[in-house]
Amino acid sequence: MTVYRKWYCSCSGKPLELEYQSVPVDDGEAGEPACRRCGATPSSDPRKTVSFEDIENWDD
Ligand SMILES: [Zn+2]
Repeated sequence: MTVYRKWYCSCSGKPLELEYQSVPVDDGEAGEPACRRCGATPSSDPRKTVSFEDIENWDD
């Protein structure tokens, strides 16, 4: 069983799924998803609009 975490930003009044940026990351980390509307990320969330949902995948 694998758990996927989906991130959302509610800056527009309804949840908008955060998108992983396509820019390569030099330090080997996978990077962070960011809101394409306001730019909030899970670690940079000044307005506390970012939330997440864990999706359980039982296929494996
Ligand atoms: Zn946002």
